[in-house]
Amino acid sequence: MPASPAPSMKYAPAKPPLTGETLETLAARLGERGEPAFRARQILEWVYKKRARSWDGMTNLSKATRAWLADTFELMPAALVLNRQSADVTDKLLLELGDRSLIETVIIRAPQDGVGLDHSRKTICISTQVGCAMACVFCASGLAGLRRDLLAGEIVAQLLQVCYLEDARTPRARAELASFDNIVVMGMGEPLANYDALIRALAIVNAGWGLGFGARRITVSTSGLVPGILRLADEPLGFRLAVSLHGATDAVREKIMPVNRAYPLSRLLPAVKAFATRHGRMVTLEFILLADVNDSPDQAETLREIARDLHAHVNLIPYNTVEGLPWRRPSPERQEQFADVLRAARVSVTLRREKGHDIAAACGQLRLQTEKGAAQAGPDLD
Ligand code: SF4
Repeated sequence: MPASPAPSMKYAPAKPPLTGETLETLAARLGERGEPAFRARQILEWVYKKRARSWDGMTNLSKATRAWLADTFELMPAALVLNRQSADVTDKLLLELGDRSLIETVIIRAPQDGVGLDHSRKTICISTQVGCAMACVFCASGLAGLRRDLLAGEIVAQLLQVCYLEDARTPRARAELASFDNIVVMGMGEPLANYDALIRALAIVNAGWGLGFGARRITVSTSGLVPGILRLADEPLGFRLAVSLHGATDAVREKIMPVNRAYPLSRLLPAVKAFATRHGRMVTLEFILLADVNDSPDQAETLREIARDLHAHVNLIPYNTVEGLPWRRPSPERQEQFADVLRAARVSVTLRREKGHDIAAACGQLRLQTEKGAAQAGPDLD
């Protein structure tokens, strides 16, 4: 048996991130110190609404409270070390965590006709693990395996870093709590293998005292961990679901995604259907197009039947080349032919416009390149 997630190394920093605390847990900690109940809300307002970047910036707190906070919590557990902007308006952020692990967060802008980039629709893609245990053969994140799960506070911190950048960049952002339109949990790692931290982080992002970001604009993307999908279906907040299918039959899927051995399509598809039925919302099937692997007319026809049965949206993604891996994207004509099979049956389908190819936007590539460069140059990144 493969691909159930390997036990991951847990990380316990000396000071936990403040961004991992809920209103209730922070209030409990403050209560032990004899602080009034409203103090927790006041502190979280500094973090999420006023974007305080230092303890000293929290000017309506006493010096003693600020000193206690500084001794007890890390205010920002993910430091921005690189922001690589691509010509096609994708920003790739490389963040360094307390143990010097690197993670990636991506801002994807979809310019709207007649408005500038400031008003483009923005989707933020966040990571949930350092590396990944799922070992999908085409993926840069899986190449070195799983290093560890992210803490809830590290997941939230990625979005705060995006807020800092956007606040400085656009007037729209300064006027809003979170100026982006969608969050996709689709970066490095398998989100459902770090379930508790994921749900805690998303609850913080959703809360009125947090970023106040609607659960319906948050999509959790999984490689197909069936128990996690069923658990997610029961979450009261009602997040959206995307499934990385990448193969329309077990034979093809198994070649490229070891998770299929533990959770073949006969188990995965009913779980996805149960989720869709429960939430009454369209699930997205992600399908990376790999030349001569999954781009045949047969695959397109089988995918069409799966999508029709699930009433799912299909997102076709031409493969982004990863250095050192042999996979290629199909020609544009072949991509269109594949999409046409679905379109002809009125399946809702998107053939993704290229975003970020020039900045190694496929998940995990920037981290991999930076770590390789660091290994060649010596142990330190800076
Ligand atoms: S594609 Fe996703 S699930 Fe698969 S190895 Fe990469 S990060 Fe992990």
